Amino acid sequence: MNKYKGRGCSRRRDAATGWRALVHKMSYLSALQGMSLEQIRSVIEIMQQSSDAYMYILDLNMDIYMLAEKATKRFPFHSTVIENCTETLKKIIYPSDYEMVAADIEKCRSGEQDNHTLEYRWLDRMGRVVWISCRGTVVTGTEGHRLLIGSVSELGTKAKADNITGLRREARFRLNMESTLRDQPETVRYLMRVGIDNFKEINEKEGVEAGDEVLRELAECMIKTVDESVDIYRLVADEFMIVDTGKGEVKDPGAIYRQIQRTIAATAKNKEYSRFYTVSAGVIEGDFSGTTVEEIMRFTEFALNEAKRNGRNQMVAFDRAAYDVYLERLDIRKLLRQDVSHDFRGFEVYYQPIVSAEDYRLIGAEALLRWKNEKFGNVSPAVFIPVLEESGLIIPVGQYVLWEAARMCKKWKEYIPEFHINVNLSYVQLYKSDMMRDVERCIEEVGLDPESLVLELTESGYIETNDRIKELFKDLKSRKIDLALDDFGTGYSNMRYLKEIDAKTVKIDRTFVVQALKNEYDYNIISHIIDMVHSLGSVVCMEGIEEKEELSKMMATKPDMIQGYYFGKPTPAGQFEKEFLETTGSP
Ligand code: C2E
Ligand code: MG
Ligand code: MG
Repeated sequence: MNKYKGRGCSRRRDAATGWRALVHKMSYLSALQGMSLEQIRSVIEIMQQSSDAYMYILDLNMDIYMLAEKATKRFPFHSTVIENCTETLKKIIYPSDYEMVAADIEKCRSGEQDNHTLEYRWLDRMGRVVWISCRGTVVTGTEGHRLLIGSVSELGTKAKADNITGLRREARFRLNMESTLRDQPETVRYLMRVGIDNFKEINEKEGVEAGDEVLRELAECMIKTVDESVDIYRLVADEFMIVDTGKGEVKDPGAIYRQIQRTIAATAKNKEYSRFYTVSAGVIEGDFSGTTVEEIMRFTEFALNEAKRNGRNQMVAFDRAAYDVYLERLDIRKLLRQDVSHDFRGFEVYYQPIVSAEDYRLIGAEALLRWKNEKFGNVSPAVFIPVLEESGLIIPVGQYVLWEAARMCKKWKEYIPEFHINVNLSYVQLYKSDMMRDVERCIEEVGLDPESLVLELTESGYIETNDRIKELFKDLKSRKIDLALDDFGTGYSNMRYLKEIDAKTVKIDRTFVVQALKNEYDYNIISHIIDMVHSLGSVVCMEGIEEKEELSKMMATKPDMIQGYYFGKPTPAGQFEKEFLETTGSP
């Protein structure tokens, strides 16, 4: 005699098998109606043994809640049988979720629905937020008695919610976002990915518990800042995603971000600055139709990384054009790597003449790297050199340039004995490779006298601060290898560097020369700089002279050497030889 029969069970086929089994089992318990609460409780415990979820029976008419003992250990239920269920649940359900849950249960009670399937928050015994998934089905008895039978599972155990911050996790974000993007992409206003600056440092220096505390604190700051309609998820490690799906008031994400910053600062102040951290954010707004979750993850990650690259503690809006440049750089990096590993395929060293300002005779050349490939054609050094530097590939490529240039110089000295070759050096080579050994080996094996080699270094703040670099300069000097301070006038332009690196040559950059050609003030500065360089015992090479008029005007500032299109553009070795050396008649 079955007194209870399940209804509406088929609506969700994936409903927890736990309650299905429970209902099934109970339907054979003919004596159920006559069972004591204690007996029903035992049934729950038996069923519970085979599940991680917390089994429950809610008597909708009597307002009695019976649940597995395991649940009472984790959540503040005073007993496994709760008679005044509504009052108790009010304390356990996260306050702002309560109304939604109560309304759903009411529908089960009134007969409007037979299923209860909701995700919401409970508070555990420590008062911490725990995301749960509550599923149940109404079972009706002969006298219209309604029981809701089901289970509660913690989303955290399925990596869908995070018990440190009480927020839902990436898996849940992806699921929710997928359906929003599919069904109502127009409702999405913005997504903001927030990351803690230096989180790794906090974990390493203060321990994982301190890290967890910061995560919890930040989650609270964000919850305080956005309104209830805005969702917050915890992604990997120290990153969060704020999602505005247009349910509340329109708010500018920039203002939200600044408010989060202020709340963090205020919290730090309240805690007497025992710990201080900042956050960066990457935000994406606009039209989301046709956008996938994967794209959102990549775009927001890119914007957040930009914020961190730009110095942290700031928000950056996703910029499609910048992202495309970034993708192109990744592509370039891949191609560069392939070409380097194929014996420097696509690379070539060009040479640009350097003439004496005295009589415009050829005295040397600067080795300038070129790279071309099928996909991009000729790529500018301004694009590929930074990629080589970032990837460390500048170390093998720099060696390749050094060897090529040294060999050519050795050959060309047969035409012009005083010929010297200038090779550009990157700071990455200085920091991360044994430059001194490479240079020594090269000049020795090629048989080039060290005075013929000039290493060009861009002026920058590194020189001042790095002792290892200073040491290297001394070593180079002691081996009679000259240094040139490149791009003077574009950066720090500090005469102190000259002294620090004891550079024999200062190369004045074309941008500075162009300024000087346009206005008298810059012209006078260049003139004074050249005087100063001379008084320090160094010489000046003026770069970027393109026209005859430019030459005559700049000659009055008394440079020692000139390099520019007027005397010759960078060309391949063979052409350089033909154009500039064979004409000299020897060897
Ligand atoms: P840089 O060392 O200052 O080289 C001079 C740049 O000015 C060269 O650009 C040259 O082609 C250009 N230039 C010379 N005369 C004129 C002129 O009259 N007018 C104009 N408009 N430009 C002129 P390029 O070859 O594009 O190289 C750009 C930069 O790339 C170089 O600037 C250097 O910093 C870097 N680079 C090139 N080759 C290497 C290399 O082998 N290693 C490293 N680390 N950097 C390199
Ligand atoms: Mg240079
Ligand atoms: Mg230069």
